[in-house]
Amino acid sequence: MSLTEKPCIICIAITGSVPTKKDNPAVPTSITEQIESTHAAFEAGATICHAHVRNEDQTPSSDPEKFAALKAGVLKHCPGMIIQFSTGGRSGAGKERGGMLPLKPDMASLAVGSNNFPTRIYENAPDLIDWLAAQMLEHSVMPEIEAFDLSHIFQAANMCADGRLQSKPYIQFVMGVKNAMPVDRDVFDFYIKTTERLLPEVQWCAAGIGAGQIMVNEWCVAAGGHTRTGLEDNVRLNKNTLAPSNAALVQRVVELCEKYDRPVASTSQARQLLGLQ
Ligand SMILES: [Zn+2]
Repeated sequence: MSLTEKPCIICIAITGSVPTKKDNPAVPTSITEQIESTHAAFEAGATICHAHVRNEDQTPSSDPEKFAALKAGVLKHCPGMIIQFSTGGRSGAGKERGGMLPLKPDMASLAVGSNNFPTRIYENAPDLIDWLAAQMLEHSVMPEIEAFDLSHIFQAANMCADGRLQSKPYIQFVMGVKNAMPVDRDVFDFYIKTTERLLPEVQWCAAGIGAGQIMVNEWCVAAGGHTRTGLEDNVRLNKNTLAPSNAALVQRVVELCEKYDRPVASTSQARQLLGLQ
C-alpha cells in the first residue's frame, strides 16, 4: 500500500486524568459530556476513542460502572468507533487499573515499563504488567502499548514472542511528557525503525504531549503512521488560544492528512488495519 493509499487512523484522547475545566472548560469530565465530545470528534474523523473516567469532583476514577456507561453511550452514538480504555496508573492503583477489562472494550492501553512523570514515578511493575496483559488476552481486548521509552518497544516484542501479548498489538510512541522522552525527531525515526524490525506486522501511532502535539501529528501523517490527538494530551490550539473542543483538535489532523494526501481512516478501514472485528 503506498503512503497516499494508506488510511490514517485518528485517535481522540478525550479526557485523560490530568486536565480539568480550570485548564480548559472544554475538557469533558462527566459521562454525558464525554459522550457528546466523542461524538463530535467522531463526526470530525476520529475512529478510536481513548478514555479515562472521572469522579464528580473531576478527580480520576477507575469505577467500572462509569466505563460501562461511557461504552454504552459511544456504541450508541458513534457506530463502529473503536473504544479504548486506559489502564494507566493515574486512574487507580494495582489491579484496580484493569477492573474495567471484563467490559471487553475493543482495546486498552498498556504500559509495559516504568519511567518518570512530571511529579512522580510512573510505576509499572513486571507482575502487574503481566496481570493486565493476561486480563487483556482473557477478555479479547487488543492492547495498545504505550511506549514512553525505547525499552518499552523491546519489552512489548518479548511479550508477543512468549505469548503474554497477542502477536499484533498496536504500538504508540508517547513523546513530550516532562521528565520522560521529549518530542525528538531522531528518536521518533528510530522508534519506527525499531518497531518495524522487532514487530514487522504491527501498526504504530504516536502522541505528542503539550505544545508538541501538532508536530508529532504531522510527523506521523507524513511517515505513514497513525496518530493521536485530544484534550488529554494538549488543551491549546497555540500558545495563546485554548482548543475549543476535541473535535477542533481532530480537525487539525484531518487538515494534515489533506496536506500529505492521506485518506482519513473510516471505522471499517481502521478495524481492518488493526485486525479488529
Ligand atoms: Zn490516557
